[in-house]
Amino acid sequence: MAIEFDTIAAISTPPGEGGIGIVRISGDEALEIADRVYRLGSKKLADQPSHTIHYGHIVNPKTDTPVDEVMVTIMKEPKTYTREDIVEINTHGGIVSVNKVLETVLQNGARLAEPGEFTKRAFLNGRIDLSQAEAVMDVIRAKTDKAMHMAVTQLDGNLSRLIKNLRQDILNTLAQVEVNIDYPEYDDVEEMTSQLLIEKAEQVKNQVEALLETASHGKILREGLATAIIGRPNVGKSSLLNVLLKEDKAIVTDIAGTTRDVIEEYVSVKGVPLRLIDTAGIRETEDIVERIGVERSRKALSEADLILLVLNQSEPLTPEDELLLEATEEHHRLIIFNKTDLENQLNLDDLKEKVDPESIVQTSIVTQKGLDELEAKIAELFFAGNTGEKDATYVSNVRHIALLHETIEAFDDVIEGIETGMPVDLVQIDMTRAWDLLGEITGESVQDELITQLFSQFCLGK
Ligand code: GDP
Ligand code: ZN
Repeated sequence: MAIEFDTIAAISTPPGEGGIGIVRISGDEALEIADRVYRLGSKKLADQPSHTIHYGHIVNPKTDTPVDEVMVTIMKEPKTYTREDIVEINTHGGIVSVNKVLETVLQNGARLAEPGEFTKRAFLNGRIDLSQAEAVMDVIRAKTDKAMHMAVTQLDGNLSRLIKNLRQDILNTLAQVEVNIDYPEYDDVEEMTSQLLIEKAEQVKNQVEALLETASHGKILREGLATAIIGRPNVGKSSLLNVLLKEDKAIVTDIAGTTRDVIEEYVSVKGVPLRLIDTAGIRETEDIVERIGVERSRKALSEADLILLVLNQSEPLTPEDELLLEATEEHHRLIIFNKTDLENQLNLDDLKEKVDPESIVQTSIVTQKGLDELEAKIAELFFAGNTGEKDATYVSNVRHIALLHETIEAFDDVIEGIETGMPVDLVQIDMTRAWDLLGEITGESVQDELITQLFSQFCLGK
């Protein structure tokens, strides 16, 4: 049963012109409101079977003037996105027509939906849990196939199921502890109970830690690996960039409804999404170091998860090369020993003394040599060759990661409490805290404020 709410409406298609535009209405009065503005003879939408689509017109009921010719989909609760009655009016796409239809619907009893309010209702009505709602947002924003896949898996409830199982485990233990406490006549009950708590705390903690280990990968899959291509002028940075972008893997997304105003460039290298930093800089001025100065380029470097430092092996190492080698020492980096088709002037053995030999990749970008190896190294660096686990559960959401860390702390308190001989009922409190924290991920124990804040990040109409 849906919780009672007023009826909301919004444009659910991206802003701008398109083939069709959709005005979505959700709530108890969705059909009634739609019937006020829908006309096809004496046909009433409310009388039609659920999950059907109907041709007709939207009119201004006061004057009976037509607003647009439409197709209307009706979906009656409970099998809908929000678990409420939903009406979707497909209009003729133009900005004017879709806005006019929305306006008409609002004038006839619906309220304009807040960003994410449809999804929020799906959550509040119990159709999806919070991690799934967050996954909806991730699907909308997904920039790479992998990120999309990960979000869809989460939407499926992979993470939710795992968390639910862990919570159930903790709950069973807490119940067992209660039982033990109720039968204090057994002498060894205190010790048994302590044993039980510490074992469970350690066991679940291990599982949470394993989940957290996926987090850095999850974040990378979600946001892309921030990658900087650097090197002095003419070593081949632009050529490398173009090669990476060209192999029809480039995924450039302009995400409607988000606040991002720069379109970033993403490429997928053996399944690892790279977010290329400052590609404009490479293209326009040819030399990031010269252009923005060493200090600022150091800052750009500090934001990078991966640095591709390009050297021209047909010339000896210059002081500028040395500087860049030094500046990137602490980073994840690959050193591209480029232009191997030309005569060698840069001593490879000397270079191997200075840097990790494994980080060197020999390439000739113009003749397309060594590029496979480069891609393999990138994948290896970040996934230890492990990109194939399609249905693994990844945590990628910052909020989830923070909660998992707090959960581990709670388990540590349980373990420490037992080890220092704290009374069982106090230890129980920490165990319950771990249970609560995990519940915040799925939204089973979560504050209203957080929910409001989370859903406000959604785009309108979702
Ligand atoms: P950037 O200044 O670092 O961006 O370098 P560019 O990518 O613009 O390349 C400078 C010049 O080197 C261009 O003429 C490229 O065609 C050339 N170049 C790039 N990679 C190679 C390579 O592997 N071999 C040879 N022979 N020339 C290359
Ligand atoms: Zn260039």
